[in-house]
Amino acid sequence: MNEFGLIDRLRAAMPAPGPGLALGIGDDAAVFDLPTGQQLVACTDTLNTGIHFPDDTDPAAIGHKSLAVNLSDLAAMGADPAWALLNLSLPDTCPDWLDAFAAGFAALAGPSGITLAGGDTTRGALSVTVTALGFVPAGQALTRDGARPGDRVVVSGTLGDAALALSRLGSDAPPAAAQRDRLDRPTPRLELGRRLRGLATACIDISDGLAADLGHILAASAVGAHLDATRLPASTALASLPFAQRLSLQATGGDDYELCFTLPAAHAAELDALAADAGVALTDIGEITPGDALEWSGPGGQPVRLDTAAGYDHFGGGGT
Ligand code: ADP
Ligand code: MG
Repeated sequence: MNEFGLIDRLRAAMPAPGPGLALGIGDDAAVFDLPTGQQLVACTDTLNTGIHFPDDTDPAAIGHKSLAVNLSDLAAMGADPAWALLNLSLPDTCPDWLDAFAAGFAALAGPSGITLAGGDTTRGALSVTVTALGFVPAGQALTRDGARPGDRVVVSGTLGDAALALSRLGSDAPPAAAQRDRLDRPTPRLELGRRLRGLATACIDISDGLAADLGHILAASAVGAHLDATRLPASTALASLPFAQRLSLQATGGDDYELCFTLPAAHAAELDALAADAGVALTDIGEITPGDALEWSGPGGQPVRLDTAAGYDHFGGGGT
């Protein structure tokens, strides 16, 4: 199979294009119609074999995750997904691998309303870069800089499951399938992101660990936060761990792809309805404070220090 056979195969696996794609795969570049009154939101993320996923990862999961991590960034901006570009670097043209990859990508692209509009295909070490484009009503993008003292700090879903799965890969107690899915097939919180427009004062997706990612909101907003570690939402697997281990996974483990946002306290009573509408649990874990410190309390309200303050940093230490 040559490069063009490969592109045809990818294209054939994708859902029918959504609106606004004037010219898709097959020309020198894609052409889009832009809706009036909307701003274009763009993000890109790369997954490299051996770094972002283990070498033996199911290709369908790589297809899913390469798109999901980008959709998670769009969700964190409150954007509606529209188009994706896919840059694939492949060691060889293995049709079975490609078909499984494309199926995983397509199965998430369809329900997310995103259309594959182009990309590039080269030979090299396995690496997948997706660029996602979406829209947000003008002036309504969710940013990191609007958190104010007194706001509530809220997270979606449960935290720490992906980090737990990662820590157990290759061990005597490998992760159960459901746990491994939290690592391989994260769920971008698109509906929540949309519903946070005009409501959240700041928002970020948790890719590098809660402490690190909330830290970005705190820095951008010039505020601090006080979090109650006992309130961090945990799956049954996480909840059964010793407190220190659980907190370390939940606060500094990466790859959750949940949203962390801040909400004026006056809207705190709306959280349950918002969770029902967005189809994901929402948990109030603490409060934005004046100053610049991220402080934690644990059982009995005692102050808690995290083992590692940082999340995953590709060029630094610490984290997972
Ligand atoms: P060029 O030589 O002009 O860069 P290519 O041969 O790389 O064009 O690509 C031909 C067409 O196929 C383009 O429309 C491009 O966007 C699309 N394409 C190439 N690789 C991919 C891919 N991995 N996913 C989606 N579309 C792709
Ligand atoms: Mg090209």
